[in-house]
Order: sequence, then structure tokens, then C-alpha cells
Amino acid sequence: MTVLERAPELGEVGAGISVWPSAVAVLEGLGVKGVEKASVRAKPAGMRKPDGRWVVGAAELGVEIPVMIHRAQLHDLITAEFGNPAAESGGVTVCTGYEVVDVQQDRDGVVVNGELRADLLVAADGVRSVIRQGLYPDYQGPRYSGVSAFRGIADVAVDDGGGETWGRGQLFGFARLIDGRFYWYGTANQPPGTTGEPTAFTSWHEPIPQLISATETVLQNDIYDLTLPLVPFVQGRIVLLGDAAHAMTPYLGRGACSAIEDAGALARHLESTPDLTAALTAYDAERRPATTKLVKRSRSIGRLSQTENKLLCTLRDGVFRIGGKLMSLRART
Ligand SMILES: Cc1cc2nc3c(=O)[nH]c(=O)nc-3n(C[C@H](O)[C@H](O)[C@H](O)COP(=O)(O)OP(=O)(O)OC[C@H]3O[C@@H](n4cnc5c(N)ncnc54)[C@H](O)[C@@H]3O)c2cc1C
Repeated sequence: MTVLERAPELGEVGAGISVWPSAVAVLEGLGVKGVEKASVRAKPAGMRKPDGRWVVGAAELGVEIPVMIHRAQLHDLITAEFGNPAAESGGVTVCTGYEVVDVQQDRDGVVVNGELRADLLVAADGVRSVIRQGLYPDYQGPRYSGVSAFRGIADVAVDDGGGETWGRGQLFGFARLIDGRFYWYGTANQPPGTTGEPTAFTSWHEPIPQLISATETVLQNDIYDLTLPLVPFVQGRIVLLGDAAHAMTPYLGRGACSAIEDAGALARHLESTPDLTAALTAYDAERRPATTKLVKRSRSIGRLSQTENKLLCTLRDGVFRIGGKLMSLRART
């Protein structure tokens, strides 16, 4: 298998990532061990208001939780197994600095840039996928969510279990990493392309201002997801995977996990179904509905967390508080 990557070298951004148990299981099945050991199981201390008052505490939430890991660590674990550039490791050859600009297919295979032939092409080229664009030129593609996200790693000792704080039109979340540092993220409603520091959070409860001031580099990304309905993930011998197929807003923390789950499903269908077309059809039938649900659910959570309407915020917090109490009562009985 050959991986074609346009970046000059493999690397990851300085931020954390939540990895859900289903994605950990896929990684382990593919031979990538040690994710849980390098992570902190996120203990959502719950949800707070910007002044620090609790809306709902962790003890009340009897829900499945992800592990939190630095992206660079996750990347290292994966590339240790597959992905030594210019060398074959785990049956994978990685070619960095190689940009895919043209893809053609016929009955027997796929040709990339007029020079590389393959039986199957997996397009994992992100939300602005040129391969998806080539397959579905009329598809609208990325849609701006109205929100920009800020992320950072804070090297500071604070005694706090983390969790999320929801305000009016903004949210802030943070979690401890295995090395004691904290990964944090925050959002703001603003037009695309607006740059600036996340200043509004400096008046929020501690340790939020402390985390921001202990951060060397703040990353900012305008948040896009893909227009619904999603396009079919398979056309002939070309398969869409990850954000190229189903980019979603990050409120569920499941975009990369879904890409990992896609990879697990694709490998499973290719292994169990000898006919290529049937295997790819099964992949699309499994993954497109599942990820469509996540794109929709993530949008709904985004609308709820980013609302600027004061009355709606009060109502939202009240519903969470009562919901938390009911869940805790149900767990006890
Ligand atoms: C603020 C924020 C927080 C997030 N938090 C989480 C989280 O906690 N948990 C989670 O699961 N997900 C999270 N996500 C989502 C996650 O980052 C994405 O879903 C994930 O990175 C998608 O992976 P991908 O490989 O499909 O696409 P990408 O990460 O976009 O990778 C695409 C790759 O293809 C390469 N490429 C593109 N075009 C070409 C070309 N023409 N030729 C060759 N190479 C090309 C690019 O260089 C890149 O390396 C978050 C996203 C954001 C923005």
C-alpha cells in the first residue's frame, strides 16, 4: 500500500484529541497499541457557567467517555506501526511531498497524476478534498458553521478535573494530558477569516484565564462541515474516507475517530468480501448513514452551545441541570 501525502513531512498540530473507545478498538485491531496508556481518560467534571457555577456534575453523567491524548503522541503511535517515509513499514510506503492533482479510473484500476496505477484509491484528503471535488463537481462541499475554534496546550499546574463551560455564543473546554499539561479549546461566533486572540474567556472562571495565559501558541481554525446529504463514499474504485467523506463540526469530538472507524470498516469489508464492488458497497452502506447522523448531531449541539439568546441559554442550562438530576436518580435506582 502506498500513502501519498502532499506535506513535506508527517506531523501533527499542537493540540489534544479525544479518542472514543470504538476508535481505540479499531486502532488496536489494526495493530496500533498503547493509545490508552498514553492518554488520560477524560473525567468530564461536568458543565459550568462562565462564572464557575455548576450546571451538571460528572457524577450525574453516566455516559461513555473518551480518552484524551496529545495529537503528536497519537500520531507517533500510528506512524511507529505504519508510516516510516520512504521505507516500507507494516506493508505501507509513505511518499511525502507528493500532491495528488489528477485521478482517472477505468475498469481495471485507478491512475494518479498520470503515473501511478492502483487497484483501489482511498481519498482521505480532508474537508477540501480535490478527489471528492473531481468525482462530484456539483456538490456544494464545505459549509462554514459560523464558528471559529481556538486550541492550545497549557504548561501549568492546576487542580481541576476539567470539563466544559458554556456561555452565550461561546464555550470553553479543557482536560489534563498524560504529561500533566492541559489541552484546552474555545469557540467564538464570527465571520470566516476573522483572526484574533480568544479574549472573552479572560473574564471566565478559573482556571480558564490561567490556562490561556500559560499557552505559548494558540491555534485558530474556522469550523467547516460538509453539506448534507453527503455524497456516496464510493465511485468505482475510489473510496472517500474521513473528512473528505463526512467532515463534521468538532462538538462531539468524533471527526478523527470516525475516520479511524471508516478505516476499520473498509479493511473489514475488503477482507471478508472477495468481490471489490460488493465490499465497497457494504462500506458505503455502513459508514454513510452512521456519519450522516454524527454530522447532524454535532450541528445540533453546536446550535445549542453557540446560541447567543439569553432566554435560550437559561432554558438550555435548566434542561441540562434537570436532565443530570434525572440521570443520577435513574442510576441510583
Ligand atoms: C478544533 C477542532 C477540534 C477537533 N477535535 C477532535 C477530537 O477531539 N476528536 C476527534 O476525533 N476529532 C476532532 N477533530 C476533527 C479531526 O481533526 C478531523 O476529523 C480529522 O483531522 C480528519 O482527518 P482526515 O485525515 O480525514 O483529514 P485531514 O486531517 O484534513 O488530513 C488530510 C491529509 O491529506 C493531505 N492532502 C490534502 N490534499 C492532498 C492532495 N491533493 N494530495 C496529497 N495529500 C493531500 C493533507 O496534507 C492532510 O495531511 C477536531 C477538529 C477541529 C477543527
